[in-house]
Amino acid sequence: MKMSTITWADLARLKKAAKAAKAILPDLTHMQRLNAIAAAEYGVRHFHELEKRYDAQVASHVDVDGGADHCRFCSFTFDGTLPADIKAHSERHQLFEEAQAALGFVPMPYKEREQVKRTGYEWMRSPDPGTQRQGALAVLLSHFERSMERAVDGGRWHKHPYFVEYLAYALLGAGFIPESIRQRLAKEYGDKPGVIPAGSTDWPSQAAIKLSRSAPDAAASLRLRESVAQAAKTAAEASIAP
Ligand SMILES: [Zn+2]
Repeated sequence: MKMSTITWADLARLKKAAKAAKAILPDLTHMQRLNAIAAAEYGVRHFHELEKRYDAQVASHVDVDGGADHCRFCSFTFDGTLPADIKAHSERHQLFEEAQAALGFVPMPYKEREQVKRTGYEWMRSPDPGTQRQGALAVLLSHFERSMERAVDGGRWHKHPYFVEYLAYALLGAGFIPESIRQRLAKEYGDKPGVIPAGSTDWPSQAAIKLSRSAPDAAASLRLRESVAQAAKTAAEASIAP
């Protein structure tokens, strides 16, 4: 019996299972099969209870602020009285749920991203090469997060490189990094020019590149993302260098 959170994917899976059970439960209606499966898996009487639980979960992320609704989970601002806006939010929210399940994180919201970027630029002005390196990584992380947010919103996060792989592609165009630090990072993460166009920091939606997307890359990316973001956040709160 699962009492865990309900995702959009769970609801879709149950609907599919109810459809597939038609052959073995021919006397039940689709709704009755759906209710039976929901009862067996989640201990609820009706499938509708799971839908309500899901809706409540989504709503718990939404703040109403000065007339506009804002979802903290998928960083989306919308008008909660407009059906088109509600639909747009629910579609985006589902994509972010999917991405979180697969990636282990959701891209940072705009404000957090900008904070990490500002801190990164501050660190790069330090005379200490280690702090400069950390600063370069923080700015690159803010670019990665924006690029990933666009990929998630477009439903193509699975075609987006992980952070460590993104670094290799982003370094050539990263002229904002002191050259010695840029070279040092290129040695650590590789240097793969020619995919991200000059002047852009977004992973191109049409990039015809075979990405590694390996499990070690995923784990290393999560760790690096977490440590850079955490250091930037701590520094921003204390306004000190790492
Ligand atoms: Zn949302």
